[in-house]
Amino acid sequence: FFYAVEGVDGCGKTGITRALVDHLNDTGRRAILTREPGGTPQGEQIRALILSGSDDAWDANSELLLMTAARVEHVRRVILPALATGTSVVSDRYVGSTIAYQGAGRGMAEDFIRQLHRVAVGDLWPDLVIVLDLDPLIGLARSKGRLRAAAIDEGRFETLDLAFHQRIRQSYLDQAAAAPQRHVVVDASGTPDMVRRRTIDAVEAWQRG
Ligand code: C5P
Ligand code: MG
Repeated sequence: FFYAVEGVDGCGKTGITRALVDHLNDTGRRAILTREPGGTPQGEQIRALILSGSDDAWDANSELLLMTAARVEHVRRVILPALATGTSVVSDRYVGSTIAYQGAGRGMAEDFIRQLHRVAVGDLWPDLVIVLDLDPLIGLARSKGRLRAAAIDEGRFETLDLAFHQRIRQSYLDQAAAAPQRHVVVDASGTPDMVRRRTIDAVEAWQRG
């Protein structure tokens, strides 16, 4: 299966992605971990381009096209080849992030994003999207603590306002409501262990049908 893990900054996507891959491999289901933007050398270069600049370094159109370009490489070089050999893929973000950040966040038309996804990416959607739902205030506090611990520039986070992140959260909830068969919404508050347990339970329940 193709799984994507989505949610606001600081909701725990990266840790949950890792935990889900470990869980699948430990229980005899081959799975690989990957991420967006990134996942290929080309995509990682695009990621560095986008994330090294200030918040307004890219027009929203450019940002959307760069995110989509990274996704094209990711799907063709990593995701489809893995799925073709029966290996599951767990991606830390996917097109849901583009609908949320470049769409709801930065105002790009969702129709255009979906059309690009159809034409450029080949309309590949995850079998299951795990939405880690969290109040963005809590997420931003978690992210800032982590960035400070790593002595990384906080610029990109501080200039983004709370309303932007509220729109991101709402977009994920809307995406889940619009396609409930391929989404699960997991409460991402509490300890990493609690969120991991909820996620694995939700994935196992989905696999049982
Ligand atoms: O997934 P990660 O937290 O590493 O993402 C890095 C940054 O890229 C985050 O600040 C996120 O808000 C931003 N991002 C974005 N648009 C996307 C995906 C990620 O602005 N489509
Ligand atoms: Mg992360």
